[in-house]
Amino acid sequence: SMTAVRVDPDASRSDALVVVSFEDVSHIEEAEQMRSDFVANVSHELRSPLTALYGFIETLQGPARSDPKASDRFLHLMEKEAARMARLIDDLLSLSKLQSEEKYAPTTVVDLRPVLERLSASLEPILDREETTVKLDIPTDLPEVIGITDELTQVFANLIENAAKYSRNGAVVSIKASVDDVEPDMVRVSVSDQGEGIAPEHIARLTERFYRIDKGRSRDKGGTGLGLAIVKHILMRHRSRLQIDSTVGVGSRFSVVIPRAM
Ligand code: ADP
Repeated sequence: SMTAVRVDPDASRSDALVVVSFEDVSHIEEAEQMRSDFVANVSHELRSPLTALYGFIETLQGPARSDPKASDRFLHLMEKEAARMARLIDDLLSLSKLQSEEKYAPTTVVDLRPVLERLSASLEPILDREETTVKLDIPTDLPEVIGITDELTQVFANLIENAAKYSRNGAVVSIKASVDDVEPDMVRVSVSDQGEGIAPEHIARLTERFYRIDKGRSRDKGGTGLGLAIVKHILMRHRSRLQIDSTVGVGSRFSVVIPRAM
């Protein structure tokens, strides 16, 4: 920041100048620290599927080479690791695109009903795998919202996938949309699950990049740890809020509150 080099003509106030510069520098240092933490995190996250891939390649070059069944199994595992890297890179690119566009609020109008209906149909393979049923409760006269269809689709895809991933098999995910009770100029869409729930100390941190309550579980489910960070950035630009209510052992509700079109 250029304010750090402002010159104070009054020599007797040079103390104050030092304080100002120091504050500014500490701000820059904090941003730099966050950036280098992020680069370290990304490198680590990319390194782990790569390490797994090297391991499988080595096995395929050695003992598994002459065993077609074992080769098939290792190739399948390699495909999974490569897919994980691809997802991570896609999510990182989405995040960086969102950050560069964050100042531009959407001006288009979206009808959320078909968005949510199409989405729950397209998520069927994932929902089937998790043995999850989706219940939609959307009034036919739901007002339109101000937004970008692809981005809002991404928000609800991430929330519904999470609801399915972090619930036990056979659970129901319910999606409810309505005009908000308290703020009638907003539409509220909630995605509720009967999952494991989230302890209060985690709730505030869930939208941080790579923040995961159980890293192993997220990995097993193919997560990148970036889903809710993407949700947060999309909602920021939509002038919208995310509200998380959860009870451990009972389930969670992620509600999105979006300005309605007038
Ligand atoms: P991930 O790829 O790990 O799912 P997200 O950013 O989407 O990344 O979510 C971050 C973390 O928040 C998850 O790892 C999980 O611990 C927690 N989480 C998200 N949604 C839910 C939910 N519906 N129920 C319980 N925990 C959840």
